[in-house]
Parts: sequence; structure tokens; C-alpha cells
Amino acid sequence: MTTAFTVKSQTVLRSQICGWRGSAETIAFVPTMGALHAGHISLITKAKKHASKVVASIYVNETQFAEGEDLDTYPRDHKRDCEMLRAAGCDLVYIPEKMYDPYHSTTVNVGGPALGLETNHRAHFFGGVALIVTKLLNRVQPDIAVFGEKDYQQLLTIRRLTADLDIPVRILAAPIMREKDGLAMSSRNRYFDEESRKIAGQLNVIMRQCAEEIASGADINTATDKATIKIIKAGFDNVDYVAAADTNSLELLTGHLNNCRGRLLIAAHCKGVRLIDNCQIG
Ligand code: AMP
Repeated sequence: MTTAFTVKSQTVLRSQICGWRGSAETIAFVPTMGALHAGHISLITKAKKHASKVVASIYVNETQFAEGEDLDTYPRDHKRDCEMLRAAGCDLVYIPEKMYDPYHSTTVNVGGPALGLETNHRAHFFGGVALIVTKLLNRVQPDIAVFGEKDYQQLLTIRRLTADLDIPVRILAAPIMREKDGLAMSSRNRYFDEESRKIAGQLNVIMRQCAEEIASGADINTATDKATIKIIKAGFDNVDYVAAADTNSLELLTGHLNNCRGRLLIAAHCKGVRLIDNCQIG
């Protein structure tokens, strides 16, 4: 059977995956919303090391956008995305024509790591993510799926979701890919003009300084408050949060780090663009 590189229909996707399963291939999956950059490609590279076939998906998932967010303007360029995926050694790109039935009535509500942080500012977000990821995993049925640490709370939410619902997939994490000045790569970075791009580049610098202070014994609230002030002084519009949390549970940490394994997580708005970033503490 000759294989198309891009598939839109669920039936064709299933028959391709079944064909591979029949030949004892293992399957890795990388879900994306397109507008790809080197961060996405690093996930494909990781996926290739862990499975014999790699499937990527491109779908801008409406259920994770709230009213007034950038669903309509989110950058879309399937031709370029597919060229990048082919060059990276991806085997199949799934671009679903339809994910939701008009009568769709099911929600997926994850607690634990999905609570707080992003959810305090984008209440709809993890419901949308959990739903699309569950549906895509059911359609592709991969052995492994790769997610970026760039969306750290999302990664832990998906780990919790797949464990709780017995979805037979291993979730692998890929490190954050950054621009030269340390700004985490993101499809939304293309919204910046030259001046706002310079300001955006300060976020990771301030984040690292804050993480170092906490690792060296500073009081967590004092260090995160100081970082918030620095972010505003750098020219950001506002800060949603700067928070230290347990690496695995994402429970917020206060006082001193002591022997906890901590992660510093940040969300802030730069000239109308919402940025998130995170790093390990210590
Ligand atoms: P998105 O297209 O933004 O939904 O992202 C698709 C996947 O790529 C998610 O698992 C993200 O965490 C991951 N990703 C996005 N940006 C980066 C980055 N800079 N480094 C590593 N992974 C990333």
C-alpha cells in the first residue's frame, strides 16, 4: 500500500495505523496546532528515537480558546508545516477535517495539576486540551506521545489524564527550545514587532534570576514578587503569575525550597501577546 504523507479522514488514518501495526511498527504521536518552529521539530526528533513511525497532527482546537482569544487569527500555514515535518522525518501528518460532532456533549475535567496557575486565568483551557488530546489519542492510538515542557502544566495534566483514564500511551517530555536571547519558541512570537520582541526576551532572564535566588535560599514569595516588579519594569503590560510549584504535583510552594524539587512558572502579557515560560529551580 502506498502511503499518503497527509491524511484528513479518520478512516484513512485508521487503516494506515492498522497497516503499520500489522507490520509490527511502533507509533509515536506529536499533536500540534501548526505554525511550526524548531520547538515542535525537536518533539518529532525525540519521537523518532522512541518509535519506528511518527505521526504528527495539526489542528487549531477551538475548545481551548475562549471568546476574545486568537482562534481566528492563530497563524495557519499547512504547506510550510508539512514541508518542515517531512524534512524532520515525520511519517504521517494528520490534519483532521472535523474533530467535534455538532451534538458533542462530553467534557473531560482534570483536577490535580490542572488546577490553579493557567486555570486561574484561562478557566476553559485544560477542559479543551483534555478533550482534544483524549480524542486524538483515541484516533491515533500511539504507543507514545511527546509533549513539550514549554507547556509544563499541560504536560502534567496530560500525564494525569492518561493515567486516570487508563489510556495506554506513554507520555514523553521534551525540553524547551529557545531563541538566541532565551525567549521560549512559540507560534505566537510572530505577533511581535521589533520593539515588543526585545521586551519579550527579558522574561526568561528575569525567570532564571528568580529561580537562582530561590535555589540559593531566598524566601519564595519575596523572590516571585521581585520578579513580578522586574517584568513590569521591563515593559510588560501585566503579569498573570510568577509561582514556584512542586515539580510533579504542581502544588504551590511557599517559604524556602528546602529539599523540594521545584519548578518556576510564569505567565505575562507583552504588548498584547500572552507568554508563558518555566524552568527548574536549582
Ligand atoms: P502547540 O502547537 O503550541 O499546541 O504545541 C504543540 C507541542 O509543541 C506542545 O507539546 C508544546 O508544549 C510543544 N512546544 C511548543 N513550543 C515549544 C518549545 N519552544 N520547545 C519545546 N516544545 C514546544
